[in-house]
Amino acid sequence: MVNNYKYKEKVCDVCKRLLPREKFIINDKGWSRGAPCRECINKKAKEAYWLKGGREKAKERTKKKAVQREQEKQKKQIRERYCLDPNYRKKVLAKAKQEAPWQKTLKYIKSKCGKTKYNMNTKNFLTLKDLEYLWYRDLAMFMDRPSIDRIDLDGHFTFENCRYIELAENSRRTQKRICAKFDKPHFL
Ligand SMILES: [Zn+2]
Repeated sequence: MVNNYKYKEKVCDVCKRLLPREKFIINDKGWSRGAPCRECINKKAKEAYWLKGGREKAKERTKKKAVQREQEKQKKQIRERYCLDPNYRKKVLAKAKQEAPWQKTLKYIKSKCGKTKYNMNTKNFLTLKDLEYLWYRDLAMFMDRPSIDRIDLDGHFTFENCRYIELAENSRRTQKRICAKFDKPHFL
């Protein structure tokens, strides 16, 4: 191994012993990585292992990881099938539409509030139940592309301020608002 250092020895930061370079972790360029010696690092790792719960916990962790890996595998299979098989895609989409589409709305709202340029001060007060109620009240299942709309465009996402309307109509309203705000002509 290359040793780039002028001095052949180094003091460990933890045990304060003067040790040869080989007792430290050295990278492939010959520079030692980190101030503690190998012994101290191993000791610390062992302590952490037992603090985390020792062998049994470690077994649990590996099991958990195995389950996660299996899930990832399944997800990958589904994804591949979804991309290749148009019939399967149709089926999945139909099922997703049947299963509580307002869940998607809530996800969308959460992704918007306080995160995008025009919604930095917008807050969400809607729950899943509210959205379900709105979905049936506005008969969103008969729309081509239902979307959540704020009646007062500068207001928050509250039960009173929200409704489901067609996406096209919604975008038109948003566009108008942005154009008015920045003094631009709008063409919609
Ligand atoms: Zn040491």
